[in-house]
Amino acid sequence: MLADSCGRAGDEHVDDPADLAVSYNIVEIFHSVQGEGFRSGIPHVFIRFGRCNLRCEWCDTDFDTYQEMSVIDILGEVLKFDCKNVIFTGGEPMLNDLWPLARPLKRRGFHLSVESNGTVEVPEGLLDWICISPKDQMYPKVAIKQRTGDELKCVYVGQPLSIYDELKAGFDHLFLQPCYDEHESVENNGRSFGITEGVVKENPEWRLSLQTHKWMGIL
Ligand code: SF4
Repeated sequence: MLADSCGRAGDEHVDDPADLAVSYNIVEIFHSVQGEGFRSGIPHVFIRFGRCNLRCEWCDTDFDTYQEMSVIDILGEVLKFDCKNVIFTGGEPMLNDLWPLARPLKRRGFHLSVESNGTVEVPEGLLDWICISPKDQMYPKVAIKQRTGDELKCVYVGQPLSIYDELKAGFDHLFLQPCYDEHESVENNGRSFGITEGVVKENPEWRLSLQTHKWMGIL
């Protein structure tokens, strides 16, 4: 049962029944601590959407296995946790119209973030925190449409940082993240960390982001 629930459409104090009936393809919803980037260490409820328009070789998400959930079902899951921070992640969450889900969450005071590959523009006012993780190093011909945000977080696989010269101007915080591959040995992952650390030391406008949740063995 929702804490404060449906009402007449058009009344700003109640949910629009049309929003609550909208369905999304959801891989999983879970409560954890953000392990990477600027908001690392802050507990969040992660809503992982199915489907992605890219196929990165290091991707660790089975975004092709999902179930259809209505907004009312998603709210029911999110409200189980004592946590007011939500991250839309994926897959690529921006392949969806997120307004029907965002509206009832905003009404309940949630802080809304997105982790997106940037290939779809984020509507103005939809979110409180925009983290764009472009994959230009893999897909140089795929245009990044979302060119502003709070955080630019790039997986470092040896690409020249000059490919971000234009894009980085639109973001408040710049992060480089080593490519952590759980199928690789500790030595190989350590080498990747060391190389990325060296690049950050030479380019101090970028900060090092580590996927600390993976070290801790949590989601
Ligand atoms: S953009 Fe993200 S979710 Fe999509 S394939 Fe690449 S790493 Fe996976």
